[in-house]
Amino acid sequence: MTPMGRALVTGASRGIGRAVALELGAMGFEVLVNFRTEAAKAAQVCDAIVASGGRAVPVGFDVTDADDVARALAPYLDAPEGIDVLVCNAGVTCDGLFIGMDHEAWDRPIRTALDGFYHVARPIVRGMAKRRRGRVVVLSSVSGITGNPGQVNYSAAKAGLIGATKALARELAARNVIVNCVAPGLIDTDMSADAPRDALLAAIPMRRIGRPEEVAKVVCFLCGDAPSYLTGQVIAVDGGLT
Ligand code: NDP
Repeated sequence: MTPMGRALVTGASRGIGRAVALELGAMGFEVLVNFRTEAAKAAQVCDAIVASGGRAVPVGFDVTDADDVARALAPYLDAPEGIDVLVCNAGVTCDGLFIGMDHEAWDRPIRTALDGFYHVARPIVRGMAKRRRGRVVVLSSVSGITGNPGQVNYSAAKAGLIGATKALARELAARNVIVNCVAPGLIDTDMSADAPRDALLAAIPMRRIGRPEEVAKVVCFLCGDAPSYLTGQVIAVDGGLT
């Protein structure tokens, strides 16, 4: 454990999660770098943190699998120091028009976002509430704020996370555990690689795509320097879109 404490970032093998893990490592947290399939990429993230003088451990689990999450987190949940910071970042899209959407496509983003939140956040915030300190940041999306055509499933999942964040923030405020959402707009990662970028850029006042590091800065502010009076909020990082 480092003096800053321990942070878990789900889906940290690439994209926004990777940028958050690197930044938390630089801030002095011991980072648990979660991956689902990309063990080698998670190991690279850990190596980069360690090479800069930090501490990091890859932790493999699928957030949709309750048993897998419980097995992987057990050593950390049982430790007296527990987990101080949780970033619920893992997410997937499964785009298509609603009228042609089969149930598996409907369910995947919702399972990953909402079941994933339930499986990972519940045991961790239990420890935070006991220790009377902790910070949780949840990655939502502007799709969950405004809705996005072709993403009825994903918009529902990400709006659900906003509701969950606000309710949990109220449950835990008196225990000094703060819970906030970050809602990115269009960010340059694998997830947005197939998006119709030119059409989307026209709607973004800043006329450019965001960088994962720009989202990570806001996430890490909420994990670190943000006052504990800031809870239950949704901060969009979207170039002025919303
Ligand atoms: P990427 O697709 O680049 O990365 C997603 C990450 O989530 C990967 O590390 C992936 O792991 C992991 N993941 C997916 N499913 C699971 C699972 N079941 N269990 C554990 N890990 C899982 O996405 P981004 O970095 O772009 O997105 C990060 C977050 O930000 C997501 O919640 C996304 O919805 C949100 N967001 C992104 C936007 C964008 O424009 N990029 C815009 C708005 C919100 P693996 O490699 O093993 O699949």
